[in-house]
Amino acid sequence: MTAYDYDLFVIGGGSGGVRSARVASSLGKRVAIAEEYRYGGTCVIRGCVPKKLFVYASQFPEHFEDAVGFGWTVGERSFDWKKLVAAKDQEITRLEGLYRKGLENAKADIYDSRAELVDAHTVKLVKTGQTFTAERIVIAVGGTPNEHKALKGHELTISSNEAFDLETLPRSILIAGGGYIAVEFANIFHGLGVETTLIYRGKEILSRFDLDMRRGLHEAMEAKGIRIICSDVIEEVSKAPDGGLVARTLNNGTLSVDTVMLALGRDPNTKGLGLEAAGVALDKRGAIVVDEYSRTNVPSIFALGDVTDRVQLTPVAIHEAMCFIETEFKNNPTKPDHDLIATAVFSQPEIGTVGLSEEEAASRYQELEVYRAQFRPMKATLSGRAEKTIMKLIVNAEDRKVVGVHILGHEAGEMAQLLGITLKAGCTKDDFDNTMAVHPTAAEELVTMYSPSYRIRNGERV
Ligand code: FAD
Repeated sequence: MTAYDYDLFVIGGGSGGVRSARVASSLGKRVAIAEEYRYGGTCVIRGCVPKKLFVYASQFPEHFEDAVGFGWTVGERSFDWKKLVAAKDQEITRLEGLYRKGLENAKADIYDSRAELVDAHTVKLVKTGQTFTAERIVIAVGGTPNEHKALKGHELTISSNEAFDLETLPRSILIAGGGYIAVEFANIFHGLGVETTLIYRGKEILSRFDLDMRRGLHEAMEAKGIRIICSDVIEEVSKAPDGGLVARTLNNGTLSVDTVMLALGRDPNTKGLGLEAAGVALDKRGAIVVDEYSRTNVPSIFALGDVTDRVQLTPVAIHEAMCFIETEFKNNPTKPDHDLIATAVFSQPEIGTVGLSEEEAASRYQELEVYRAQFRPMKATLSGRAEKTIMKLIVNAEDRKVVGVHILGHEAGEMAQLLGITLKAGCTKDDFDNTMAVHPTAAEELVTMYSPSYRIRNGERV
């Protein structure tokens, strides 16, 4: 028996926090967890899950249009935003209940309160003022949308948090940002019939993705009717006499819209957390600095998930939690593996990706073989929709290892998940060639690109 109230106290009931608390508790540890808002965290309450539900909702207008080419007559249709928000709320409440139940079943003590550190072994619940000691503390408090307070009129804007619960669907929206959240919301709002403009300070959207995918998606979004303004920023947002908003931009004059949404990155939730009192070190962005085992500089305190600003994705937070459990409670030191993380952008069309972009691979390897296919998906033949799928394999010529795969097209996210296994297993291009195709699918293209489309030698296309 230790002198502490708990073996583990977890601050934050999101993806990483709930997983660490639930699994530690199921191992017989005395565990407490505190959540200041809703269990499930960003992913379940105002991130991945509601977003994907909104993506589905926004795809229906295209499905209705496409149906005509297959002989269907689609009658009058209308969309009810309030109904969608209510249905989404019902689903996330259900999921929140499951997260809570999982913790209850594992016999963790659940606190509905903000928690702050008092010292290296003590946590205070803000709601009641109670303090608890714990042998180990996990900080899994996630992040929050960057409010961009330097922007004049920022208080008139919304973030992704509010976008999920708007009272009414705006007629027009201006979204600032070029990351996946900005891009996904631009597609969602456009699909739901909102006149949508995306403004991004960089030259091309989605800066860390393969350039082919970025350009391909940009073109596809513009073809649908989304206005994309690159190399520009909003300088001021103000109220218009008609109740709408006016956004003054640096290079494109003023834009009049109903709503301005900022999607300019996320800040770690470390303010006022008592980290100084406990002596926990932060980096310049306010993220908690951790070692390879998610240990902070204070031996009893660990941090995982978005608050550490490593890779801000739900499966990564969960993986880091599982590695923490292995290391600290199963005597099996395990470092999180951040290599070859498959991921998707739920834009329309989707991007699915794993491994290095062509640009990154070119800077790392002397010679690359690039296999690239661009084609019209089968469904588009009868629907008549002008769209293309792009698939790209990046192969290190020296050992034939596939070091990157990038797909723009339907179900690209689903494909990326499976390709993640092949790249993780170290598959070579020959393994791809030796694999029988599944016909007729779009994915068969991945195993039937027999000769390189081009090579990159010493960074130059040849
Ligand atoms: P979170 O899930 O953010 O959980 C942290 C929790 O801590 C929150 O519930 C918060 O209320 C609570 N908290 C904060 N401070 C305190 C405190 N002092 N005391 C008590 N509780 C506190 N990832 C994907 O993998 N795929 C996607 O498609 C995807 N889409 C996204 C879409 C959007 C719009 C957003 C915003 C994010 C998306 N993400 C996606 C990212 C994903 O949601 C995060 O990476 C993930 O939730 C991180 O988990 P976490 O445990 O670190 O933090």
